[in-house]
Amino acid sequence: MANKIARVACREQDPKVRATNFEEVCYGYNLEEAQLEASRCLNCKNPRCVAQCPVSISIPEFIGHVLKGELQAAADTIARDSSLPSVCGRVCPQESQCEGACILGIKGEPVAIGKLERFVGDWKIEHGRTDDQRPTPNGHRVAIIGSGPSGLACAGDLAKLGYEVRVFEALHKVGGVLVYGIPEFRLPKERIVAREIDSLRRLGVVFETDTIAGRTVTVDSLLDEEGYDAVFIGSGAGLPRFMGIDGENLNGVVSANEFLTRANLMHAYDGEYDTPIYAGSRAVVVGGGNVAMDAVRTAKRLGAEATIVYRRSEVELPARVEEVHHAKEEGIEFRMLTNPIEVLGTDKGWVRAVRCVEMELGEPDESGRRSPVVKEDSEFEIECDVVIMALGTSPNPLIAATTEGLETNRRGCIVADDEGRTSREGVFAGGDIVTGAATVILAMGAGRRAAKAIDYYVKAKK
Ligand SMILES: Cc1cc2nc3c(=O)[nH]c(=O)nc-3n(C[C@H](O)[C@H](O)[C@H](O)COP(=O)(O)OP(=O)(O)OC[C@H]3O[C@@H](n4cnc5c(N)ncnc54)[C@H](O)[C@@H]3O)c2cc1C
Ligand code: SF4
Repeated sequence: MANKIARVACREQDPKVRATNFEEVCYGYNLEEAQLEASRCLNCKNPRCVAQCPVSISIPEFIGHVLKGELQAAADTIARDSSLPSVCGRVCPQESQCEGACILGIKGEPVAIGKLERFVGDWKIEHGRTDDQRPTPNGHRVAIIGSGPSGLACAGDLAKLGYEVRVFEALHKVGGVLVYGIPEFRLPKERIVAREIDSLRRLGVVFETDTIAGRTVTVDSLLDEEGYDAVFIGSGAGLPRFMGIDGENLNGVVSANEFLTRANLMHAYDGEYDTPIYAGSRAVVVGGGNVAMDAVRTAKRLGAEATIVYRRSEVELPARVEEVHHAKEEGIEFRMLTNPIEVLGTDKGWVRAVRCVEMELGEPDESGRRSPVVKEDSEFEIECDVVIMALGTSPNPLIAATTEGLETNRRGCIVADDEGRTSREGVFAGGDIVTGAATVILAMGAGRRAAKAIDYYVKAKK
């Protein structure tokens, strides 16, 4: 199926300029561009895009409203299934979800569903009806641990049902990975994330920051002493992994999580803040996911020559296609089929290079991807003064360790069913703490399903 109108390109900052600043890369559509792009949608009877959306947004319906200029109706349509459209429009891996299934993609370019969602979400923030007035209290209280997408989505849905909701967040800022991980140049914090969170505050959700569940409070104290009817755990998977190779303890080796937290949450890139960060003059980032792309592009913006080292080929890169494309435009070097085996240091204990081996692809492994195999006699060195490890993350064990009877699996994830019910009565969980590191939309969907299950549980208990 082809379409005579070409996909409407999104205006972006010039790559050379943006590689030196932290302002948002993509400007988004204006109304005219959005309507032109919306006119490409065929309004399919059996929309393949909806089937591939993890939260089943009524995509042709909202796009139809955009086409007619009915932007409040478009926002209302998305709101039935997603509480973070401005965020998801920017960060969802659309190419493997809705856009990957769009019928127009078979012979041409799919509808830019993500950019249209972002357009509607941003319009709603600026001009939308503020209908999030406080609902009548239903007399029940729910505690949420963690303020990432799963916790926020769960909090919003429960507040709308009249629950008194309090979110306990370990960090000093609310938003989880949306504020500490994903950089400003991809997801503006004050203009977008903070304002989507403000709408929850208007619903009456209370945020208690600098509060660590498992230390300041526990799941048991919330249920038994503080009188909450249920607890939702959405504490994410923020514990970084390392390779376990020699030299990883040298000065200049850092996890992507720490590097990005310093840059984003602690504003190290902003001259007005005195948070230290070291990007060096040549930074090597190990990994190929979104976290690796965010780290390498941040290092570049902080002045380093920046290189991705990834053990598989470009086809297997798990990062969003748009991030890889943007990184290349910004001058990031990609060393594919390359794996570090040692970090080499100076006599003063600082990184001077990584020793690597070349890889080739063998048979598919259990993930279905061809597994990388070391090429014989292929060792070589890449000179650098910073190595950033972006190899994936695991859940922090603190909450499970301090909560009696909460079952976890061998990866340290809390065991929960599809509705978020855990092995402990009254305790629900969702997002990365259950699935391991995944995506914003999946975490948000899990939070919303858990909110329904919590409502059912509390009402059945009465
Ligand atoms: C750098 C980076 C880039 C990413 N890019 C993308 C992307 O482009 N697209 C995409 O879809 N996904 C992306 N992801 C993944 C996505 O952000 C996560 O899957 C999602 O945020 C998970 O949501 P969550 O609510 O489960 O947890 P999180 O967002 O991790 O939030 C958990 C919150 O719980 C808090 N917490 C943890 N322990 C405690 C405790 N004991 N007490 C109180 N609070 C606690 C944490 O401080 C945090 O604020 C990225 C992740 C990272 C790290
Ligand atoms: S599959 Fe593509 S063309 Fe069809 S309804 Fe979805 S976005 Fe529109």
